[in-house]
Amino acid sequence: MNARAGWVQEFWRIAVVVFLAWVIGSIFDQVGLLLLLALFGYTFRNLFNLQRLANWLGDPQAADIPIHFGLWGDIYSRIARVSARQAQREKRLKTLLNEYASSTSALPDAAVALDVSGRIRWFNDAASRLLALQPAKDIGQPLLNLFRSPELSALLSSKDYARSIKVSAPGQRDRKLEVRIAPYGEEQILLLAQDITDRLHQERVRKDFVANVSHELRTPLTVLSGFVENLQNDESLSDPRLVRPLDVMAQQAARMRQIVEDLLLLARLEGDSAPSQQENVDMGALLRSVADDCQSLSSGGPQVHCEINSQRGLLGDQKQLRSAVTNLVVNAVNHTPPDGSVTLVWDDRGNDAVLEVADTGEGIAAEHIPRLTERFYRVDAGRSRERGGTGLGLAIVKHVLNRHDAQLEIKSHLSHGSRFICRFPSSRLIA
Ligand code: ADP
Repeated sequence: MNARAGWVQEFWRIAVVVFLAWVIGSIFDQVGLLLLLALFGYTFRNLFNLQRLANWLGDPQAADIPIHFGLWGDIYSRIARVSARQAQREKRLKTLLNEYASSTSALPDAAVALDVSGRIRWFNDAASRLLALQPAKDIGQPLLNLFRSPELSALLSSKDYARSIKVSAPGQRDRKLEVRIAPYGEEQILLLAQDITDRLHQERVRKDFVANVSHELRTPLTVLSGFVENLQNDESLSDPRLVRPLDVMAQQAARMRQIVEDLLLLARLEGDSAPSQQENVDMGALLRSVADDCQSLSSGGPQVHCEINSQRGLLGDQKQLRSAVTNLVVNAVNHTPPDGSVTLVWDDRGNDAVLEVADTGEGIAAEHIPRLTERFYRVDAGRSRERGGTGLGLAIVKHVLNRHDAQLEIKSHLSHGSRFICRFPSSRLIA
C-alpha cells in the first residue's frame, strides 16, 4: 500500500468517527460530548499504536508486523522493508569481513594496522606469532611499547615507505624480521614483518662456503706457485719446450691466487656490517698514491692525473678505500687506449663528497651498466681474463662503498669513455 492511500484511509477513518459522533450526539443532544469522546478514543488508539511500534522496533526481525492496514500498517511495512535491507547489508559485510579476516590470518607475514599515534588497531595471526602480540590485551596499545626497537622507532617516525629494516623479533633474539611500512586510510600505517631467519641462515651458509673454499685453495695454490717459480728459475732445466708451459702455469696460478684473494676480501666485506676502521683518510694523498702506482705499472698506457678540489678527509677504512680506488683506476687504465687519459677527482660538492674516476676510453654499452657490480659479470670475459681481470673488481668497489654509506653511479657512452662516481654522505666528511 502506498503512503497516499494510507493517508486517505486515515482521513476517511477520522471523518467517519467524527460523523458517527455527530449523528449519535445529535440523537442524544450531546454533540460536544460525543465529539470529545470520539477524539479521545482516536488519540488513545494512536498512543497505543505508538507504544506497539516502540516495542516492535526493539527487534523488528523477531516479530511479525502488528498492523497490516491503514497509515500504521504503511509505516510498519516501510520500516520492515528498510530493516530487512539493513540486515541483508550487515550480513554481506559480515561475510566479507570474515573472508578478509581469514585470508589475512592465512598470510605468513605479520600485518599490524596502526593509527596516527602509533597505537595498534588490528593485527593478524602471524603478528601474534612473530611479534608476540595478544589480541585481547594489545589492541589500542602503542606498538613501540610492546616492540621496543630504536630502528623500528626511527622507521615509523621517518615514514620512509621505500625502506625496510632488519631487526630481531621481540623476545626472540634468534628470529630475524624484515620490517617495512605502508600508508593506508587517513594517515594510518600498515606495518608488515616477514620472518627472514631461514633466508639469512642460507645466505650465511653460502658466504661461509665461498669463504671456506677460497681459504682452503689458498695454501695449495701458494705451494704450486712456489714450485712453478722454482722450476722457472732452475738453470739445470734448460729444455726450451718447458719455458712456455711453465710461463702459462705461473700466469694461471697467479690469476687463481688473485681470484681467491678477491673472494676472501669480498667475504670479509660482507661479513661485518660496520667498516673495520673509522679513521680520517686523507683522500687527496690516497688518490695521488694510487694514480702514481697505476701510472708506473702501465708504462705506455694512458696518462693518469688527479684533480684534488677538496682538502677534507673522509671517515672510513683506508685499506678498503684504497682497494676500491685501485680497482676503479686499474679498470679505467685497462679500458683506455694509450693516447687517452684517466682522471681521479676528489671534491666536496655541496654537502656530499664525491670521488670520481673518469676515463676517455672505450666506454660501456648501456645494457651492461646495471649488471657491472655483479660478481664475475664482464662485458667481454675473454678480454677481461687476458688483462688479468677477475670479474670481482666492481663487486668489491660496491661492497666497500656500501660499508661507507656511499652510492656508486656509472655513466658511460660507447667510444666516449666512462665515469665511475662515488657519492659519500656529508656525515663522513671531516673538516
Ligand atoms: P674485471 O676484473 O673484469 O675488470 P670488474 O668487476 O672490475 O671485473 O669489471 C667488470 C666489467 O666492467 C669489466 O670486465 C669491463 O667489461 C667493465 N668495465 C669496468 N670498468 C670499465 C671502464 N672503465 N671502461 C670500460 N669497461 C669497464
